[in-house]
Amino acid sequence: MRDFDYLEPTSVEEASRMLAELGDEEVRIIAGGTALILTLRQRMVKPTHLLSIAKIDRLRGIDFDEKSGLRIGALARHADVARSAVVRQHFPILASMAGRVANPQVRNQGTIGGNLCYGDPSTDPPGCLLALDATVVLGSTRGERTMPLGEFIVDYFETALEPDEILVEIRVPALAAGTTGVYSRFLRTAAEHRPLVSVALVARREGASCRGARLAVGASTPIPMRLRRAEEFLQGRVVDPAVAAEVANMVAQDIEPLSDSRGSGDFRRDMVRAVARRTVCELFGLSIDEGVPA
Ligand SMILES: Cc1cc2nc3c(=O)[nH]c(=O)nc-3n(C[C@H](O)[C@H](O)[C@H](O)COP(=O)(O)OP(=O)(O)OC[C@H]3O[C@@H](n4cnc5c(N)ncnc54)[C@H](O)[C@@H]3O)c2cc1C
Repeated sequence: MRDFDYLEPTSVEEASRMLAELGDEEVRIIAGGTALILTLRQRMVKPTHLLSIAKIDRLRGIDFDEKSGLRIGALARHADVARSAVVRQHFPILASMAGRVANPQVRNQGTIGGNLCYGDPSTDPPGCLLALDATVVLGSTRGERTMPLGEFIVDYFETALEPDEILVEIRVPALAAGTTGVYSRFLRTAAEHRPLVSVALVARREGASCRGARLAVGASTPIPMRLRRAEEFLQGRVVDPAVAAEVANMVAQDIEPLSDSRGSGDFRRDMVRAVARRTVCELFGLSIDEGVPA
């Protein structure tokens, strides 16, 4: 690695001004550094300046109120999200997801903001947050703008951030009464930390019927995606093992999986089908062995 000038702005505006003055080639934002340091070591990027956002108070904190929902500052680490009392109370699916990211070292160092800004598809928060209808707030000298997470993640390792913008916070609307969620992930081997496939389902159970389902697949596609056909199919339906299998088939059909050294597209599609079925069964209290041919 080479030497850097280290910048420590204390406000979003100051940081944005520094980013604009130096330009994309010369400066990189650093939060926890878990992703950035690897790209520096591999010389994938060669900035002359690192801009630490650690001293910007606006990016800190996790809070909740019924009207505005959950606010997670971009600097919240995965471990902070997993441990947060308000997240555990109001969004147990999010706490459960964050508690399974990587390993304790990465959870205690990596931030949720860095995770989303890096745009790596093989990660957990994007799919889970998409099923929760999350939005992101981006800040610069021009003020703040809010956009749905689905618009923020543009492509493989690509986001809608302008060069002088910073991710300030993530917002998640409060869940309607009775709504619950299940987040599932599949790892190729126990030693591999990153998910190959993830499925998040948020829905309301009325008896055995499903209302307001929001279903997202992550990690297995270039960007996380909502599965609208499966969501519509679930609406008002009594969910039994056959319905869970049908939903899983739809989900597997409707994705364009990644294909790389970690797994072929066909393998990912098969795993998405299995994980989606397990996720629907778990939310509706069905045994995952029910209805499966021996
Ligand atoms: C061994 C290992 C295993 C992992 N396993 C998993 C896993 O199982 N699941 C999972 O979800 N993730 C996993 N990850 C990824 C991990 O979650 C991310 O590396 C981490 O969240 C990135 O956050 P950071 O604060 O370290 O970001 P940094 O490395 O500091 O930054 C990452 C990128 O985002 C930019 N950036 C950071 N914050 C902001 C901001 N607020 N505004 C604008 N740009 C910003 C930086 O410039 C940089 O380009 C793993 C990582 C490692 C190293």
